[in-house]
Amino acid sequence: MTPSPYQENPAMNAAVPTVFTATCDLAAQFRGRAVPASREEALLRGGTGWVPADLAITCFGPIADNVFGSTGDLRLMPDPATRVDIPADGDIPGTRLYLADQTLPDGTPWQCCPRRFLASAVEEFGAELGVTVIASFEHEFTLTGMPSGPSFSFEKYRSAEPFGTDLVTLLEQAGFAPETWLPEYGDAQYEITLSPVEARVAADRAVLLRELVRDLARRRGLRACFAPLPDLEGSGNGVHIHLSFYDADGNPALHDPSRPGGLSEMGTGFSAGILRHAPALTAVTAASPVSFLRLTPHRWSAGGAFLAERNREAMLRICPGTGPDAGAQLNLEYRAADATANPWLALGVLLRAGLEGIRRGYPEPVVWPESATEADLVVVPPLPKTQEEALNELERDEVVGGFLAPDLLHTYLSVKRAELNTLAGLDDAERCRRMADVH
Ligand code: GLU
Ligand code: MG
Repeated sequence: MTPSPYQENPAMNAAVPTVFTATCDLAAQFRGRAVPASREEALLRGGTGWVPADLAITCFGPIADNVFGSTGDLRLMPDPATRVDIPADGDIPGTRLYLADQTLPDGTPWQCCPRRFLASAVEEFGAELGVTVIASFEHEFTLTGMPSGPSFSFEKYRSAEPFGTDLVTLLEQAGFAPETWLPEYGDAQYEITLSPVEARVAADRAVLLRELVRDLARRRGLRACFAPLPDLEGSGNGVHIHLSFYDADGNPALHDPSRPGGLSEMGTGFSAGILRHAPALTAVTAASPVSFLRLTPHRWSAGGAFLAERNREAMLRICPGTGPDAGAQLNLEYRAADATANPWLALGVLLRAGLEGIRRGYPEPVVWPESATEADLVVVPPLPKTQEEALNELERDEVVGGFLAPDLLHTYLSVKRAELNTLAGLDDAERCRRMADVH
């Protein structure tokens, strides 16, 4: 094997010879560009070039119809706080990653930047309600290329070595505070969870985590697939978004033991906003044609638009804490998301919809008890059955559609409909396979 020039040339023997700056786009793809480490300082000062129409690239590659065309210029402005180093690994050089905001050439925010969208949602939420939002994204994915093992078994955990330990170590080094690494229920399915952190950081970590997992898997001769349903007959890969709010004194603002489910008035109003706008929200949080095959009853994904204590079929699940700190640990879990969604947009629309529920005083939703039966739950509103239906809901729901800048909404609908068209005429099994190829 030819030694890589990286190992040969001591001048290039810096820990990270290149720096890759990227964004996560509407197709939930991580795209950007690299510069030599010697240009890092200039990169942090002035960013690197980018093109508005890049926002319209579909997950399959071709670009969807868009308002930007061949004109315009943007900058990818790296946020120094997002820096993550991937160490060299045998022949493969290390690199440094930054997440970028997309700005106009003069440095002002671009109205279609998904990362900026979340930042403004968090700012408005915090300013209006006087709370800090803490979040955590739980990711499930399928890891193929090695023998697996029974669900949750030691054997399955050990089959994924050295990938599993390398992943946990990499995430610890990156400061992502991994919480649990587990051999999940589905065939070849694993799950990684990170400790809750401030909302924007949690979404940044969700973007980076997927790339770190995929990159490490490739380096170990494996494949990590985050598609919502890699195999029509198999288990779904969900992304569960946990949320909690804390007031200025650090008290948990979601918890009130005197109310149904122990959920505060603010938490109930927040849930009302999400449930009222659920159909349009799923167009953003479950962002692929096959996402809606996962969002069906009996999959422990989200079997309908309801709020329930502990029930894993609920779109919004109240997760109680344990022990003396239970109140502080209580959080709301949004289960109708998957990794075809852009984490910044997904969390941003949830916060904005929840804020609407509180602001406009939507009627309080039922808090279904843990013991609710299937017969009880027949009255809950269903989620959209297809992506087409969800996209139509997004177009129709002026509140949710209005969260996004007009050009962003237009491009989003265009990208998603182009992806849908690419799979038109294929059966569900083939659609699952096609999505699995690109996620
Ligand atoms: N795999 C399920 C999903 O698609 C989640 C199972 C669990 O509760 O962890 O969301
Ligand atoms: Mg799970």
